Amino acid sequence: MADSAGIASFLEGLGCVQVESESQADLIIINTCAIREKAEQKLYSYLGELVDFKKNLPYLKIGIIGCVASYRKQEMLKRFEYISFVSGARDERTTFLTYLADVIVQLQTEKQFFSATALVDDVATVVPLERDVKAAMSERNAIIPARLIKEGSQAAMGGTLAPVGEVKRSFINITTGCNNYCTFCIVPFTRGKETSYPLEDIVLRVTHEVAAGAKEITLIGQNVNSYTCPETGARFAALLEAVAQIPGEFWVRYVSPHPKDMTRDVLEAMARYPEKLCAWCHFPLQSGSSRILELMNRTYTKEEYLAQVALIRALVPGVSLSTDIIVGFPGETHEEYLETREVSAQVGFDMAYSFVYSRRKYTKAYSMGDTCSAEEKAGRLADLQEVLRAGSLVAAQRYVGKNLRVLVEKRGANGKLLARSSGNHRVVFDGDALLIGTFVEVHVVEAGQSELRGELISSPLMIFSEHGLAA
Ligand code: SF4
Repeated sequence: MADSAGIASFLEGLGCVQVESESQADLIIINTCAIREKAEQKLYSYLGELVDFKKNLPYLKIGIIGCVASYRKQEMLKRFEYISFVSGARDERTTFLTYLADVIVQLQTEKQFFSATALVDDVATVVPLERDVKAAMSERNAIIPARLIKEGSQAAMGGTLAPVGEVKRSFINITTGCNNYCTFCIVPFTRGKETSYPLEDIVLRVTHEVAAGAKEITLIGQNVNSYTCPETGARFAALLEAVAQIPGEFWVRYVSPHPKDMTRDVLEAMARYPEKLCAWCHFPLQSGSSRILELMNRTYTKEEYLAQVALIRALVPGVSLSTDIIVGFPGETHEEYLETREVSAQVGFDMAYSFVYSRRKYTKAYSMGDTCSAEEKAGRLADLQEVLRAGSLVAAQRYVGKNLRVLVEKRGANGKLLARSSGNHRVVFDGDALLIGTFVEVHVVEAGQSELRGELISSPLMIFSEHGLAA
């Protein structure tokens, strides 16, 4: 989301306007995720759907960026002839944006030809740009203008996504890439080594986003709590403190920390600035079996994970926890799955993303022997999700009868306002659309697995902050 938002901001700076559907677009950029095979398959079927758009609009540009583009570039260029360009997540962002500026110029030229004469042949006479962005730029030995270097590095850090009628939320990359090499994960291969952005640049960026109306800032990295400022050596806790001290009414979230890197100073910072730093921690478990965690190269044991959870709950009052879990990792026995089930029940996550292991090329786990059938894995997932749902419901019930400060995000399809609490719980209630983008207080009257139902209250004196809840 940060990458998409950054590119959208850059294009807006060039005079482009976001439209609501593909049929209205002159340029479509598909940002891809390679973390699971299913996401990649969805990309291919979506590309199939776009053929007709291209047939009807010869000047339409379709580009693919992101993680799939990193390792399937040549294959995609060959397989999908109507794709205008491909740029992987490892390609330098300023280079890509310089190329993109050329695409916009070419697009305008072709569009003028097309609109003026309606002659498709004329469009074909415009010499197309090389489709492999990296190759195009090194071939041209392109000198990137200073303005674009500045805008490019800003755009690489992310930007704001603000669909009409919704709250403004900003996604800021604080690190990119990952050095951890979990054996199931393709990210180190698609995004490269971890690098951190300077603390001062991040603070400036957040200040700018808040001044532009953003109410929620999400700091993003593959492993946020290994953040190290390249200029000063400042760590993640110092960054959180600096961001929390920026004036204005806004919330800050971060995704994702690695359990091995969670430190006391980060949690203490969260506790010190409850008005700014959300009481929510996405804390990927992946497996509840220490043997499987070792095979995954997660570098923590079940016991260490549970100790970290206890520390988070002790230091950040009322914190809510979410997680990611994989079942059916190569070699996982039924007993080891049961350990995952047990840890999940023990922690009682507020929310969880759970998946059957997805085999990804290039990773170490790709060549590990798999003894578990697809049916068995599906059975484990269904069973685990039941445990996780039950845990979420119990966790949500602790809010019933309490008052929460929430950020109103949008009006839902059912006519209710949809808001989010500091703990990242969805809260629905009746109210005026003018409240979208504001912080209000609601009284929680009912808790379901996926959302809380509340009533708007008016007196700030009635606030029972989530930070005041016992963990
Ligand atoms: S920490 Fe592990 S799972 Fe997360 S991005 Fe890095 S390699 Fe992938």
